[in-house]
Amino acid sequence: MKVPFAMSKIVLITGGSRGIGAACARVLAEKGYDVAVNYAGNAKAAAQVVMDVEAAGRRAVAVQADIGDLAAVRAMFEAVDQGLGRLTHLVNNAGVISQRGRFEDLTQDTIDGMIAVNIKGYMYPTIEAIKRMSTKHGGQGGVICNISSGSAHRGSPNNSVLYAMTKGAVNSMTIGLSQELVADSIRVNTVAPGLIATDMPGPDELAKRVPGLPMGRAGEADEIAHGVAYLLSDEASYTSGANLRIAGGMT
Ligand code: NAP
Repeated sequence: MKVPFAMSKIVLITGGSRGIGAACARVLAEKGYDVAVNYAGNAKAAAQVVMDVEAAGRRAVAVQADIGDLAAVRAMFEAVDQGLGRLTHLVNNAGVISQRGRFEDLTQDTIDGMIAVNIKGYMYPTIEAIKRMSTKHGGQGGVICNISSGSAHRGSPNNSVLYAMTKGAVNSMTIGLSQELVADSIRVNTVAPGLIATDMPGPDELAKRVPGLPMGRAGEADEIAHGVAYLLSDEASYTSGANLRIAGGMT
């Protein structure tokens, strides 16, 4: 199943201002995508990514929205419609771990906040993307890539079982929608990174875990972005429902 791209390729990346999302924006711009860079609060970082995309010769807009808020996500998609045109690709990337430790220490605020960003924040952009991509809604088809984590299988004991649970939900969404959306000409896949050197683990978590990693180093955000770029591309035209683990040999 290939998406006809006589029109330009337009991708929205949630959490495109930093880390893996920013790397996706830069890699995809080099591959000819116009990029909508979503961010939560860091307008300066988002503006830098927009400049990098434009330096690669593509169009870009920065769009602020809390992806756990449906009204904000709808407004963001309308801004992308107007700023770049009808979306063809979506990278559901933004995610948070707002508390690490034991399960019984979780607060209601932490639970609600992580479910809002890591689960609802993948659902809301996907709902809006389907309305624009689906051939059943007058679109040309499209591709969605969800950033999950190997923690969905490991469960992340003593670190963040809640985070692992939210990533399990992302994996289930990929499996279900990859089948539900075949007839809409939309492919849906997952990338499951290992430990990647971004602000999310931060220096302390990296220092603690890197010595135990098979390659003796954390991954770089670019190494995830190249996997995302493959799954979004026509080279992956027969790939839907896949979960691509990019983790340097970590299970
Ligand atoms: P990061 O460096 O902490 O960047 C997080 C990004 O998400 C930022 O752009 C941030 O925007 C945005 N964001 C946070 N909350 C948001 C919200 N409510 N609405 C919209 N955007 C929001 O994280 P990362 O390491 O690149 O992680 C990206 C994805 O990879 C996440 O889903 C994470 O779970 C997954 N992952 C990461 C690792 C790892 O080791 N790094 C491993 C496995 C999976 P602002 O800049 O505005 O704050």
